[in-house]
Amino acid sequence: MSPVRLALNGASGRMGGALLSLLRNDRRFELVHAVVERGSINDGQPVVVGNATSLRYAHGWAQAPAIDVVVDFSGAGGLASALDHCLAQGIALVSGTTGLDAVLEARLAAASEHIAVLRAANFSLGVALLTRLLREAAAALPSWDMEIVEAHHGRKLDAPSGTALALGHAAAVARGTTLEAAAEHDRSGRASERVDGSIGFAVIRGGDIVGEHTAMLIGRGERLELTHRATDRSVFAQGALHAAHWLAGRPPGQWRLEDVIAPLR
Ligand code: NAD
Repeated sequence: MSPVRLALNGASGRMGGALLSLLRNDRRFELVHAVVERGSINDGQPVVVGNATSLRYAHGWAQAPAIDVVVDFSGAGGLASALDHCLAQGIALVSGTTGLDAVLEARLAAASEHIAVLRAANFSLGVALLTRLLREAAAALPSWDMEIVEAHHGRKLDAPSGTALALGHAAAVARGTTLEAAAEHDRSGRASERVDGSIGFAVIRGGDIVGEHTAMLIGRGERLELTHRATDRSVFAQGALHAAHWLAGRPPGQWRLEDVIAPLR
């Protein structure tokens, strides 16, 4: 079977680096295009991955060859450009980029009618399972207060993390409400008690924390805490490549990581 032709968007970022490291030894894929931000010092430099010795980093999609799947870990602008190219060429898209505005979210949803799109705020298997456990706990303990605490390295741009919001969304839906209705993002300066049924978010930033999420269910005299700690960002890269291999050749649709991880259904 010929390898899946993969393009990497955000290739000079932290996740881009983790993906390139894995791609060096992954024969399921051929890296055919590596996109960096315009002005990046890597632009035009050779990409050293397996036998792709002639490949150079590019700052866009104009010279892109034939691609089966794009893997994107960039930013909102980078994802928007990659999406344009995927739509124009009928290419499947795996994206882990978080912190998108409503317009781009809507564009991605509309695009999934024409191409296969798989997005996850967190590509780790452990978080996929945490989400399932949280859904169950939120529904089983409907009157317990819920708070979600997340911690990341200090260079992360969005807060709360996309994973924290996705966990909050899963818990809210399990309780028959929506994240928009339940979320409490800021209690500072407010002189009132906790709102029943709300889901509070707390954010920690510092050092080199890869990603930690704790969902607390707080009762009277007891508390349940579900925690996931990622200590190496290669877990996200591994999950994204697993998803990319699965998605290449799939029909259009909004696919989820749960679709890939069959035993979690
Ligand atoms: P990073 O800042 O290290 O990397 C982002 C890279 O994208 C940078 O090198 C930047 O120059 C590049 N970029 C910006 N605009 C671009 C464009 N137009 N075209 C191509 N490249 C462009 O960040 P990171 O830690 O690698 O994370 C990237 C994104 O992935 C963030 O949104 C982050 O929250 C998300 N993330 C998701 C997961 C997950 O599992 N879903 C895990 C880690 C990070």
